[in-house]
Amino acid sequence: MPPRFFYHPRMLEYDFGPRHPLKPERLHRTVVLLEAIGAVEPEDPGLATERDALMVHTRQYVSTVEMLSSGLFTPDGFRRDSGIGTLDTPAFVGMYEASLAYLGGSIRAAEAVRDGERLAFNLAGGLHHAHADHASGFCVFNDAAAAIHVLLERFERVAYVDIDVHHGDGVQSIWLEDPRVLTVSIHEDPSTLFPGTGSVEECGPAGTAVNVPIPAKSAGPAWLEGFERGCIAALRLFEPQAIVLQMGTDPHFEDPLGHLRVAAQEWIQAVASVRGLGVPIVALGGGGYNLSTVPRMWAAACLTLMGRPVPEAWPSSIPASWDLPPFEDPTLPEPRAEGLSEVRHTISVLEAVVLPRVAAAAQV
Ligand SMILES: [Zn+2]
Repeated sequence: MPPRFFYHPRMLEYDFGPRHPLKPERLHRTVVLLEAIGAVEPEDPGLATERDALMVHTRQYVSTVEMLSSGLFTPDGFRRDSGIGTLDTPAFVGMYEASLAYLGGSIRAAEAVRDGERLAFNLAGGLHHAHADHASGFCVFNDAAAAIHVLLERFERVAYVDIDVHHGDGVQSIWLEDPRVLTVSIHEDPSTLFPGTGSVEECGPAGTAVNVPIPAKSAGPAWLEGFERGCIAALRLFEPQAIVLQMGTDPHFEDPLGHLRVAAQEWIQAVASVRGLGVPIVALGGGGYNLSTVPRMWAAACLTLMGRPVPEAWPSSIPASWDLPPFEDPTLPEPRAEGLSEVRHTISVLEAVVLPRVAAAAQV
């Protein structure tokens, strides 16, 4: 039996328009690829409900999303409070239903793991920038935060792991005060990339957040060392009973938004390390804005989490017009040591200040 994989074509309606970088096509291509490999059998999660959205969002914000989704209002009067109507997160007709479709996928996946599955997917999910009361950075409803909420119905300790190039600020802010949840994020340094948060000092009042900022232009070795000695080390201390994994592919060197230089085969090592913890996983998508990298990296991530090898070539049924390269990048970005000394300094701060707080919190 393949693991539960939640997807429905209605999710492709989460679409900010043809000039927006978040293209539904990246999700469509990934699902086509995974189905061609025979790795998944997509299951319709249905729509989440208003009540589901209220698990992590304020009533005022949820009702504003619903109003703007009707197309009967201009976002002008709502922009400042709701975060909707900005260049990053414009309003569109049907936004409410499309956001509930994404949210539904992550809630169903979390329910599957809550009820005993070891692994479940919603690649449409991972909208980690949405806050309790406002949208941000392409994210309307925070499905990752909602998935944590569902997992806490059964598990006492839940970790959130975010390998997107952007800081998982929304998930962190929603769960920062709750000692049952550890959020762990590795991302490009806040001085050079949206959302401008996620410095190493942000560790919550009781060691509930771990942040590993990576300098712009860093190559894979620095990113992986930060991940292993920062993120994985924290997870080993916290000993979560379930993990929500946000698999943004935008640390890749060909991504148009981020400035890290991680290769596909390096990025996948982080996914494999999370699997190696042996904890049930709700696996979500996230960022990634290059159509030649996202489908191959997400497909490889799904296979890796299932313990299956990544094929050297894609099935011949994949349209030639996609021009989809094999999974592994032919060359690794140089210089290989870029960012390594800065990351080692960050790790020394983590080990001195942050990880002891995580360890102390885990004892409670
Ligand atoms: Zn991102």
